[in-house]
Amino acid sequence: MIQNHHSIDQLVERLQQLEQVSEALEPSPEKREQYLGQLSHYAHDFIDHLHERISFKKGHPTPGSLAINEEGQSFEQLLATYAQEVEQYGIKPASGGHLGYIPGGGIYASSLGDYLADVTNEYAGIYFGSPGAVTLEEELLHWMKKVFDFPKEAMGNLTSGGSIANLIALTAARDKYKIKSARIPNSVIYLSPQVHHCVTKAIRIIGLEDVQIRYVNLDERFRIDAQHLETLIEADKTAGLNPFLVIASAGTTDTGAVDPLEAIGNIAQKHKLWYHIDGAYGGFFILVDEKKPMFKGVEMADSLVIDPHKSLFLPYGTGAVLIKDKEALMHSNHYTANYMQDTINDTVPISPAEVSPELTKHFRGLRMWLPLQLHGLAPFVACLEEKLVLTSYFRQRLVEEGFQIGPAPDLSVSYFWLPANDLETQNKLNQQLMEAIHEDGSVFLSSTSLDGKFVIRMAILAFRTKQRTIDKAMEMILRAKREL
Ligand SMILES: *Cc1c(COP(=O)(O)O)cnc(C)c1O
Repeated sequence: MIQNHHSIDQLVERLQQLEQVSEALEPSPEKREQYLGQLSHYAHDFIDHLHERISFKKGHPTPGSLAINEEGQSFEQLLATYAQEVEQYGIKPASGGHLGYIPGGGIYASSLGDYLADVTNEYAGIYFGSPGAVTLEEELLHWMKKVFDFPKEAMGNLTSGGSIANLIALTAARDKYKIKSARIPNSVIYLSPQVHHCVTKAIRIIGLEDVQIRYVNLDERFRIDAQHLETLIEADKTAGLNPFLVIASAGTTDTGAVDPLEAIGNIAQKHKLWYHIDGAYGGFFILVDEKKPMFKGVEMADSLVIDPHKSLFLPYGTGAVLIKDKEALMHSNHYTANYMQDTINDTVPISPAEVSPELTKHFRGLRMWLPLQLHGLAPFVACLEEKLVLTSYFRQRLVEEGFQIGPAPDLSVSYFWLPANDLETQNKLNQQLMEAIHEDGSVFLSSTSLDGKFVIRMAILAFRTKQRTIDKAMEMILRAKREL
């Protein structure tokens, strides 16, 4: 290394050598055009042929094929490797045929937002760094506050997904109620047994593993029984415990159930509990008029999680959290550091970095702002309603073919099974059916167990899922059934 003890001439000579090599990081306009052309070709080919391809393929990359080659390769070669080793195997989340778990999105306009965010590399963590980027993300949060009838003064953050959004919300609840070491063993959290596992994960991460967890009874549609919740809280209070947090779901992952949000909100208010709602899957269905009444009470939440990369069809990497109590939210996340002294100013808005564990972050707001501004809201709402109608359509087709189906779903997750004389035989039969469906892969479905019954789930949320997708799924299911 040449740094000290060398003449200016020697330094200049070395700089020229280094520049020649490092220049590769700034491709020429012609090269950029060439890369973009190749990428664009790849993307069009991918999107235009997606509907012809299967949604799930078993297999894995050739060992070593993705290992880092320090010599560099051609872009064309790398795209071919990507197609062969990455894009080929597993579930195709971008496909309309993804009806398993909770499908993701991947609308095209978001990729343009990401491209712009990456090229300009705006610093979206701190207002001082990019007032525009932070304001743009603030406007998205304002819009979501309006959608969910949260007060304007509520705070929020765009996160990488629902898990981190839940983590931030539960941390705020912990800090609001000062659940520190001495209080942990007698503090109580109320949950549905159907709560998403990222919630119990967050409880452990934030040091609350040793709190008392109460699982509230569910009704026959897997929704929290509000009366039982209140009975539990009262018993715990009588026993001298410290109930401080209740968590409801606006759309559970397993069955899409929306808990009775208003009834739970009233109980939380009466007993002065922090009310958290996880709407990661179902939240944006509030935009569909027919479903709005089901969300009554969502505005009572102290904190709310929504996942634009699920019910707003964005590509993976965008969740959101809204929180009413500013101090509670900032307690664990705000900071001061000597090297940040230029950025602190009481007159500017609160920066994302002060309400999240992240400092430097992806400017993820642009992938949400751009599509909303480009398309307007109407296509998003129509797409959500389309998913609800497709759910009814799929269920009716299944009944016509002799399948049994779960109760009418709150949203777009439902389940079905082939009936048999006894539970054991039935579970075996449906397990075999599930395996045959996965082997086929035209459309991807997943399974779950509800009270010991093995059922096949359908989760309709991908924006590319259309009537023809459901028809294709029916053909596949019948093919699989014939082969049993
Ligand atoms: C998907 C999901 C989560 C987790 O969100 P990620 O974005 O996957 O981190 C939490 N809760 C519910 C209800 C979900 O469906």
